[in-house]
Amino acid sequence: MKLVLLGAPGAGKGTQAEILCKKLDIPTISTGNILRAAVKNGTPVGLKAKEYMESGALVPDEVIIGILKERLEEPDCAKGFILDGVPRTIPQAEAIEAGGIGIDCALSIEVEDSVIVERMSGRRTCPDCGSSFHVVSNPPKQEGKCDNCGAALTVRKDDAPETVRQRLATYHAETEPLKAFYEARGKLKTVDNQPTIEATTAEIEKALGL
Ligand code: AMP
Repeated sequence: MKLVLLGAPGAGKGTQAEILCKKLDIPTISTGNILRAAVKNGTPVGLKAKEYMESGALVPDEVIIGILKERLEEPDCAKGFILDGVPRTIPQAEAIEAGGIGIDCALSIEVEDSVIVERMSGRRTCPDCGSSFHVVSNPPKQEGKCDNCGAALTVRKDDAPETVRQRLATYHAETEPLKAFYEARGKLKTVDNQPTIEATTAEIEKALGL
């Protein structure tokens, strides 16, 4: 299964990807997580990406395409993968296609902007392993601590309300056209956000025939 998860920032792509990758036993590739690790480690890619990320803008396509190509060549991707937060522009989707990587399905999680803004204020992220939690809908077992690795959870800089609004504008302008891109290829499926994570997972599983 080569799956692309589409949806606005905060739509729940990361959370659903974590659930699906365990069920399908394939890796999730999140360019956001790869970039955050690069920023933290001060690598050349991280130095290039930092300013874009903090302002809510997209990192240039050539940087993303390079990161993704390298990651997809690793052996764990051979039997499938879930792409979370990539592609985010038409040129990124075209690069994936040009690389001969056939996507089986692009699944879009649909959520109203107003719900996203409200939701992002409660998001907590693990700076070490990238896991995502929410103070109300998906709290960690121990307050402020990552369930997976025990690190102290943080609020991402780009989850600040002004930056969220900027990221939503970027999403509508640059990423939403991907729905038409995959629809034209007969690969698009859409799922409406549900009141709970579990209910949204159930809708996704139904859409994917799992
Ligand atoms: P995310 O964790 O997916 O919300 O990504 C956080 C930030 O990383 C985004 O707001 C962008 O600045 C950058 N980023 C992640 N993935 C991409 C991508 N595929 N294309 C461009 N920028 C990206």
